[in-house]
Amino acid sequence: MPAKTGAQYRQGLREAKNNVYIHGERVDDPTTHPSFQNVVESMAGLYDLQHEKPEKMLYTSPTSGDKVGMTFLRPASIDDLVKRREAIQEWAKTSGGMMGRSPDYLNAEVMAMGVANDLFAEDDQMFADNARHYYEYARENDVSLTHTLIHPQVNRQKAQHEQKDANVALHLKEKRSDGIIVDGVRLLATQGGITDEILVFPSTVKPAGELDDPYSLAFVVKNNTPGLKFISRESFDYGKSEWDHPLSSRFEEGDAIVYFDNVFVPWDRVFVCGNSSICNRTFLETNAVVHMSHQVVAKNVVKTEFLLGTVLNLMDSIGIDGFQHVKDKGTEIMLTLETMKSHLFRAEHNAKLDKWGTMTPDFDALNAARNWYPRVYPRMVEILRILGASGLMGIPTEADFQHEELGPIVNRALQAKNLEGYERVQLFRLAWDLTLSSFGSRQMHYEYYFFGDPIKMGMSYFDAFDKEPYKAYVQDFLNQTTSSKPSYAKA
Ligand SMILES: Cc1cc2nc3c(=O)[nH]c(=O)nc-3n(C[C@H](O)[C@H](O)[C@H](O)COP(=O)(O)OP(=O)(O)OC[C@H]3O[C@@H](n4cnc5c(N)ncnc54)[C@H](O)[C@@H]3O)c2cc1C
Repeated sequence: MPAKTGAQYRQGLREAKNNVYIHGERVDDPTTHPSFQNVVESMAGLYDLQHEKPEKMLYTSPTSGDKVGMTFLRPASIDDLVKRREAIQEWAKTSGGMMGRSPDYLNAEVMAMGVANDLFAEDDQMFADNARHYYEYARENDVSLTHTLIHPQVNRQKAQHEQKDANVALHLKEKRSDGIIVDGVRLLATQGGITDEILVFPSTVKPAGELDDPYSLAFVVKNNTPGLKFISRESFDYGKSEWDHPLSSRFEEGDAIVYFDNVFVPWDRVFVCGNSSICNRTFLETNAVVHMSHQVVAKNVVKTEFLLGTVLNLMDSIGIDGFQHVKDKGTEIMLTLETMKSHLFRAEHNAKLDKWGTMTPDFDALNAARNWYPRVYPRMVEILRILGASGLMGIPTEADFQHEELGPIVNRALQAKNLEGYERVQLFRLAWDLTLSSFGSRQMHYEYYFFGDPIKMGMSYFDAFDKEPYKAYVQDFLNQTTSSKPSYAKA
């Protein structure tokens, strides 16, 4: 099947009758449910864009010859990497980078694991074949995916098997001739309510020991599989107009707790079955983390451009752009943008073919970017908040501007240097939705945590960093000094 259209995506969700719950109720149809319908439209827009810009968003499938989504591409050259990145950024631009889980994120993961699948064969060749077939299936059917990596937050000082209720987390319950039975809870599935299938994979940063083998799983099931439940958090799309809530009304992806109640997974959808050693190595040895990071950094360049554009318009609108500290704050965001672009350029232009023949970006560059961005995103949001000041609270709604008596008052009261009140409040409402709304706060939380705990990621980064050359450089420098050692110093 060629790449999906928006209509096919909507139809798929409608027919699937996924197991989605929100606010204590089962969602019959996410395409019309108030908590999901707007983000479903945004997702549908992404799928339609594939057909509106086929030269950028599609390529010819190596198996079927159909035109399939560019974000499933297995890059074979630097040109391919650039093409994939342009498609990622084309999608990201539609939301200012606010949809962290547009389908490209997991399309890159499925591609990497499908191609670099030797690791899964350590247990059984079938698992490697499954990963390859799943990549082809997902690409040919343009499957939209959510995923879940972590165990419930009960007692982080203990391993999973030591928890007081060890079976609360998703675990292997039974192996059968036709598949496995799994049971328990996993966190946290962004877009859980609006996708076709769910990938269950190990954590990217929390290694498990052998006693945690029963929890060490990788598989994929359809979201309407019997026994599965997506329990969504409350929605931050409050049904307001796009003018009032320019981001929350369109890009609220939702996050869900996922409960597997004795769910059956057929063998052909299992990649790792009860093997912590394979799970611990999955993201690195398949290069999935590299290809996913390529998507993340490409998307975050667009997100930073969007933030910068908002900050610059805001400065300009109220005449603060000439003040020294204001310029300095703008510069901070500009430097972030340019640094992210440089990381991306280096990642693509230092790319190398891996042992499977996939052109793989330079992970040093992407790893630095993915470890750094969670630390600077909150600062950029803070800058927007500081510069917006009271203007982020003086934001009447569209209804106030439409009101016969109030409209002219707020239009005059909230005028800016070169803008009418109506135009200025529209801009400030955007800044508010990026910073102070529930949606904006969640964006900050998302950027901080979505790839894993940044503290643990930073520790792994430190441990893996090749420190010796720098230590040796300075030791050599010190050794060159001419002064002789005092007699009391050891030889
Ligand atoms: C908005 C949002 C969307 C997300 N979407 C997804 C998704 O789609 N799919 C998915 O799988 N996951 C998703 N996640 C989850 C994400 O992967 C986790 O938040 C992340 O891995 C951190 O794990 P945790 O939340 O369990 O935090 P914890 O590991 O419980 O950490 C909590 C705090 O305790 C500290 N801490 C915990 N253990 C230690 C330790 N051993 N040593 C030192 N400090 C420690 C941490 O530094 C942190 O400050 C999402 C998270 C957010 C916030």
